[in-house]
Amino acid sequence: MTLGNGEIPRDPTLAPVSNGLPGLIGGRDRGELQIERRIFVNRATALDEIEAIGFDMDYTLCRYLPELEVLATELAIGHLVRRGYPAALAGLRYDPNFAIRGLVIDSQRGNLVKMDAHRHVTRAMHGLRMLPDEERRATYHADPPRLSAERWAMTDTLFSTPESFLFAHLVDLLERESGKPIEPPETRRLYADIRYCIDLVHRDDSLKSAVRLDRARYIELDPELPHALHRLRSAGKTLFVLTNSDMSYTEAVMSHLLDGRLADYRSWQDYFHIVWVTARKPTFFESMAEPFKLSDKVFDQGSRPFLEKALGVQGDRILYVGDHIYGDVLKSKSTTGWRTALIVPELEGELAALEAESDAIAERSALEDERFEYEAVLASAEMNLRAVRRAERRADGEVETGRVEGGRGLEREALRTAVGDIRTTLERNAARIAELTAAIERLHNPRWGQLLKERQKHSLFGAQMANYACLYTSRVANFAVYSPHHAFEPPRDLLPHERVLRRRRAAVA
Ligand code: IMP
Ligand code: MG
Repeated sequence: MTLGNGEIPRDPTLAPVSNGLPGLIGGRDRGELQIERRIFVNRATALDEIEAIGFDMDYTLCRYLPELEVLATELAIGHLVRRGYPAALAGLRYDPNFAIRGLVIDSQRGNLVKMDAHRHVTRAMHGLRMLPDEERRATYHADPPRLSAERWAMTDTLFSTPESFLFAHLVDLLERESGKPIEPPETRRLYADIRYCIDLVHRDDSLKSAVRLDRARYIELDPELPHALHRLRSAGKTLFVLTNSDMSYTEAVMSHLLDGRLADYRSWQDYFHIVWVTARKPTFFESMAEPFKLSDKVFDQGSRPFLEKALGVQGDRILYVGDHIYGDVLKSKSTTGWRTALIVPELEGELAALEAESDAIAERSALEDERFEYEAVLASAEMNLRAVRRAERRADGEVETGRVEGGRGLEREALRTAVGDIRTTLERNAARIAELTAAIERLHNPRWGQLLKERQKHSLFGAQMANYACLYTSRVANFAVYSPHHAFEPPRDLLPHERVLRRRRAAVA
């Protein structure tokens, strides 16, 4: 048996309950997997066919606390002020709820935007002001942009959300100071300066040395992580780390996460067959560079063919688990054929919110279905009404010529009433949908809504995840919930006509 999205596992091999993992099973789901701990499936992936499982480190094996983004922002502000930006910046403290991941910086207009799956801008902010709908439409009415153009910067890892925060605040500050809008060359320079300073914070060791000094302040320990790795390893999988961080930082983080946690593993390195650092992903997946060998199992820089050789495994026998949709998932999948799993920590909050609002979501979905049906009925009633009126006009002419045809008055009135009633229902329906949408959105980010969705569509981030990640889940420890032999199956594809039939069936039941 296989487990698809939303299905309830009944396979006895899926019941690791007896290992006493806290919080995975039971509670409100009464014997089912808690939804926040599930691994969701875009593309069938049988663990039995996977020989090696690799893990990115930062924001994948290691979950950072928001305090890390606070620190990165503070350090970047220091660099910006030294480069001549207003000293008033120094009083700013990073707010983790200001932006969400997956937003796009429009460095030409000085805006921060959210896009849907079709790259339409659906929400936009200039400085600290959300653009009203008309202004947003007037600004972004043209064809969907090419995101590879320099103007646009994706913020698709949590390392880049401080850039969104700084960009919006600086646009606001500079416009308030000068009393006029800032124009493209300046907005572009502003973004380039922010990017440069954030980059510096990562490269000059200021961020990393602070983390090393107080790891508990910046790193969230996941009590189930050692067990999840152990389970995969005991099932015969070759485990490896592939990170862009250097060895000294990797050592500091990984020892904090894993050293001394399970009796059989003295050091964190014992969990892994290979540790590959300073990898320079995504270039790593395309280059042929030779690595430096730091020890029997530790390699520095290099490229994918050398890693595959060291593992003795290649292509789709490798599953790589990472948090970066572009650097970890898109590039590894498209250039190497590796299977991929995306770690989306935000999923836990989003699922909890969706569950809390599940009644409202179900009601909205039923009303939306109803709206499509009513709109079709309305169009047909309006057409009939027009036809009756045309016939009446023709008949009026015929009365004058002596050929009388009566009895249409009643039909016309009945149709007119029906059209009026449907319109009233549709208006009531739209008002209720808006009310429910507001209630559902309340539990998500107030400005930007959900990470993965945008109204009825996928967000740009959600669409990329659906296209490129074979699996997705909120944390690496969720692998402990499944058998290491599990065959992950995606939900069955449904065409619209199948959805209608399924809905009707559900309504009857
Ligand atoms: P990974 O996620 O384990 O592959 O590693 C991410 C590494 O990239 C960490 O060491 C980060 O400090 C580093 N990093 C993130 N953003 C930047 C940047 O903008 N410039 C340089 N390094 C970065
Ligand atoms: Mg990472």
